Amino acid sequence: MGFNPLPLPPYLSQNNENITSSSKKFDKKNNNDNIINNTEIRGVMKLQEIRKLLKKYKCIPGERFIYHSSNGTISYVPGDLKYPLGALALLHEIAHLKLGHKIYKYDLELLQMEEEAWKLTEKEAKKYEVPIDKDHIEFCLDTYRDWVNKRTTCPCCHTFGLQKSDHEFLCTECAAKWKVNQRKDREVRRMIIK
Ligand SMILES: [Zn+2]
Ligand SMILES: [Zn+2]
Repeated sequence: MGFNPLPLPPYLSQNNENITSSSKKFDKKNNNDNIINNTEIRGVMKLQEIRKLLKKYKCIPGERFIYHSSNGTISYVPGDLKYPLGALALLHEIAHLKLGHKIYKYDLELLQMEEEAWKLTEKEAKKYEVPIDKDHIEFCLDTYRDWVNKRTTCPCCHTFGLQKSDHEFLCTECAAKWKVNQRKDREVRRMIIK
C-alpha cells in the first residue's frame, strides 16, 4: 500500500505563514544534532528515557514528527527532543502507534484519533514528567477542527453538510454537492460538483 502517513495537521504546513509550526519554534540549528550524542540536553525528559523510546519503537530522524501507519515507523526531529514540546510530539506519535491508528475515511474519524492520541500523550507525559502544555494541545486539535469545519461547510448556503466519501460532501439543506482537495497540509479548497 506504500507510504500512508496520517495526514499532517495543517499547523505543520510550510505554506501557511500565519501559523507557526511547532518545529519552527525550536532552534533550527539543532535540527541535525544527533540526540544520542548530545550531552547538553536540557529537556525535562531524561535522555535515557528518550533513547529507550527511540529504540523500542521504529523511530527515524526526519524533518517532522509523523507516525507512518503503513509501516509502523515514526519520524522525529532529533534537535527538538531536548524541548518539552518536542518530547510531547514524540509521545504523541507513539500514542498513534500504540492506539493502532490506521487510515481513516471520514474527517470525524481523524478528529477522534487525534483526541484519543492526545489523551494518551497526556498520560504518558505524566509518567515521563514532561510538562503538559494544554494550550498547545488545544491549538493542535483546533487546527484539525477548523480544517474539518472548512471542508464540511456548504459553499452555497453555509450549512454544515454530510460527508459522503473521503472527499465528497452533500448539503441536506440546498442539495449542493462538493468535493475537497486531498492534501491535508494545504488550505482547504471546495469545488461544487452540481
Ligand atoms: Zn496526531
Ligand atoms: Zn447548502
